[in-house]
Amino acid sequence: MLFTITIKQENEKNWLAQVNELSGIAADGDTPEKATMKVQSLALEAVSKQPATDEPPVFYWRKDWGGKAHTVKVSPEPMQAPPNYRELEKRVVTSDGDGLWETWHGSGTSSSIACGFCGNSENNKQIYGNWGCSYPNGNSWDDSEIECGKCKKFTLTCEFQEG
Ligand SMILES: [Zn+2]
Repeated sequence: MLFTITIKQENEKNWLAQVNELSGIAADGDTPEKATMKVQSLALEAVSKQPATDEPPVFYWRKDWGGKAHTVKVSPEPMQAPPNYRELEKRVVTSDGDGLWETWHGSGTSSSIACGFCGNSENNKQIYGNWGCSYPNGNSWDDSEIECGKCKKFTLTCEFQEG
């Protein structure tokens, strides 16, 4: 089950986040992150009252300000790291060798990236990374997947900037 979250700026101090698949589920906050976190917990509460399905809920949202597309996905299962990531070395790296791009996954290194679900940033582990830029168009990207040290959910953040 995939939930998409739309975030709108109402005014300088207020952001409104809505879950498109669940009517009436909306929350506001003084930052887009706060509004998003509130609406996710409302959505999860609503979902927990529905009949159970085998599919884990996945939350997805996208911000398009500051010239960068910034997307965030939250899931109870790893999305980019392989299911056996815990058994791997900390970082299993593939790269072009010239510093243009690098991708890795593994049992992880400590990270200060906040959990997209509960906001926790303590004891989080990054288990996937993918960054690079393409030549000659100058597009660049930076993707990270972290496992939350608190709620144990997985957050995949992707940043993309056109060159
Ligand atoms: Zn968390």
